[in-house]
Amino acid sequence: MPRLAIAVRGVVQGVGFRPFVFRQAARIGLAGWVQNTRDAVRIEVEGSSSELQEFLSAVENARDPIRVDELSQHAVPEQGHAGFEIRPSDATSPLLPNVPADLAVCPECLREIEEPENRRAAYPFTSCAHCGPRYSIIEGLPYDRPLTAMRAFEMCRSCQDEYDDPIDRRFHAQPLACPECGPQLRFLDSSGDRVAQGEGALVGALQALREGKVLAVQGLGGFQLLVSALDERAVQRLRLRKRRPAKPFAVMFDDLDRIRACCEVAAEAQQELTSASAPILLLPRRKGSPLAAGIAPGVPRLGVFLPTTPLHHLLLSRFEGPLVCTSGNLSEEPMCVDTEEALERLGSVADGFLVHNRPIVRPVDDSVGWLTPHGFGLLRRARGFAPLPVARIDDSRCILGLGAHLKSSISLLHRGRLITSQHLGDLESVQSVRLLEDSVDDFLRFFEVTPDVVACDLHPDFSSTRLAVELARRFSVPLVRVQHHEAHGAAVLAEHQHTGPCTSFAWDGTGYGTDATVWGCETFVGPASELRRFASLRPFRLPGGDAAARETFRAALGLLHELGESTSWVERWLPAPDPDVLLQAMQKGINAPWCSSLGRLFDAVAALLDMRTRCSYEAEAAVELELLATGEGPAEPYPLELSLDDAGLLRADWEPLVRDLLQDRERGESSRRCAARFHASLAQLVVDLAKRADNETVALSGGCFQNAVLLHQAVGGLEAAGFRVLIPRKLPPNDGSISAGQVLLTTHR
Ligand code: ZN
Ligand code: ZN
Ligand code: FE
Repeated sequence: MPRLAIAVRGVVQGVGFRPFVFRQAARIGLAGWVQNTRDAVRIEVEGSSSELQEFLSAVENARDPIRVDELSQHAVPEQGHAGFEIRPSDATSPLLPNVPADLAVCPECLREIEEPENRRAAYPFTSCAHCGPRYSIIEGLPYDRPLTAMRAFEMCRSCQDEYDDPIDRRFHAQPLACPECGPQLRFLDSSGDRVAQGEGALVGALQALREGKVLAVQGLGGFQLLVSALDERAVQRLRLRKRRPAKPFAVMFDDLDRIRACCEVAAEAQQELTSASAPILLLPRRKGSPLAAGIAPGVPRLGVFLPTTPLHHLLLSRFEGPLVCTSGNLSEEPMCVDTEEALERLGSVADGFLVHNRPIVRPVDDSVGWLTPHGFGLLRRARGFAPLPVARIDDSRCILGLGAHLKSSISLLHRGRLITSQHLGDLESVQSVRLLEDSVDDFLRFFEVTPDVVACDLHPDFSSTRLAVELARRFSVPLVRVQHHEAHGAAVLAEHQHTGPCTSFAWDGTGYGTDATVWGCETFVGPASELRRFASLRPFRLPGGDAAARETFRAALGLLHELGESTSWVERWLPAPDPDVLLQAMQKGINAPWCSSLGRLFDAVAALLDMRTRCSYEAEAAVELELLATGEGPAEPYPLELSLDDAGLLRADWEPLVRDLLQDRERGESSRRCAARFHASLAQLVVDLAKRADNETVALSGGCFQNAVLLHQAVGGLEAAGFRVLIPRKLPPNDGSISAGQVLLTTHR
């Protein structure tokens, strides 16, 4: 009888793959074995040709959370033994980055905690080989219990039996636990005094939520802050205490039907919400939802998700209503992971703390995604995705990329695989910078490597750049500084493993240009190995520099000043405080850097449409402008003229756009219409530039492509014109992908 040797790679370790293989072989009646090695799961099976075929297709079609990316097979000599066995792991082969991501609670485990007679009834730390914590509790490789946060919990007899039984759902499930042997809950008041434990802790926490209080919960990868999503006063209390005036909150729901009452849930959305990665998904809102208005003011989409752990499931099912669920931090600080830290930093934010004694090895925030024209895509890559490899890159060096400044992440090229860390937040506080440093140490220790090259942003003052300089010195390796927008473009090419020619758009708020001005509406051509700047925006001044990202009237003044009209003309269009001072500053070139940023053009247009003059979070004005344009239908683009500048670079001139927009305003055209026309102009610009550059493949990246109106129109226009379009999906379009782009570009230097 024929015998096959099979090597399987993908998401196949730490997800119950070997018991799955065992059950399939037993069902079909094949002889052989399965074994975990450090670079693949290896299988040998012996049986008739048709039986082997049946087995292969079962393996290839294994369901979430198992994912087979690569399967290679070859015939080996027949051995004639009967029976199938799971062989002990082989930890001697070379280490490949194959670390499982955290998995949302599975339906079987949920059923168990809801059965009153089950020994895991209402037990918040129930998990199995298909679900539960992984990356957030793994200290090192190979992934075995002694190298996880579970090593402190010795398994009881019943758990050990499940762990040892190859056909049990909990065979080799490292986080396996039960009420007798596993972690326990405690409920603390804001001064850290214990109020209750076990089931009583859950009761106490629910009581606090019902009273409209703010509850801090030690979740899977860090602390979260919860309040009732139906209680406007509780939501406002959370905003005030967290110092987060307007940025939208995500909402956790008990089940899909309750999400449907608030949002439009397409079939694809349902699939993502119920997947093992279970991200927060941004979905179009429905009118008349019962949610508190303060949850997500002025935005077109609402972030929703389902309970990801048994603990969240117990909270949600017993609370019987949706809960606002946001990262446990103060704005600009990283998430808290341990109880002491949380009590200290969140003591003034939360009224009660629901905590446990299973340590969190590293912070892993909730992931955020949305539906792009090409399917699900990530906006924040964290729980459920990190640290799964993003791509394969043909380079044997170990390259470390440190990312940018906002939405920080780090990336590592290790044995030809590109691994991007979980979202690390904005580097705006001492704690965030320390988290970046810790994450670098963690990555290098975890994968047992030292870098051959370190890559960073071109911006000299970023904390990530300073750390990169220090690391390059510490390891005596070269430092490569990568231009921000080139890195944006390269990140998309990396995830799609596109090596050929391409036109690559990188449209965002800010990035340091090679001429030391602020860039942000860049188009590049060429393969990733030789990207060349092809087009940008006509530059304008930003009075006040960085302050312009918070105060939109500054960018608007920059545009109007550039048009060279009188001060009284400027004042007619823009009610800015002290326009004279700023106009003079621009005249003299004092603290008024040049920029070609599309993000700032969005701000300026919002200000000229009399909408928003101050932003409390990144791109707030642009999000409102998008909301205005949403559902407006096709609009005639404003003209954006293309011409070559002295350096031979194409520049899109916004002057005719701004003049027409002001004319529209004068004629009393609605802001909605103007916003729709503005979006249409940008989508048209994408298509015009792609035609000029004339590459078959076009990549879209940068935070501006988180704007659904722009993205859908641009992709639609490009595809109608026959282009093949690449958009970010495994990595976010925003600066969360910069570290990955830095790594790819460094392979070419
Ligand atoms: Zn499970
Ligand atoms: Zn037990
Ligand atoms: Fe950027």
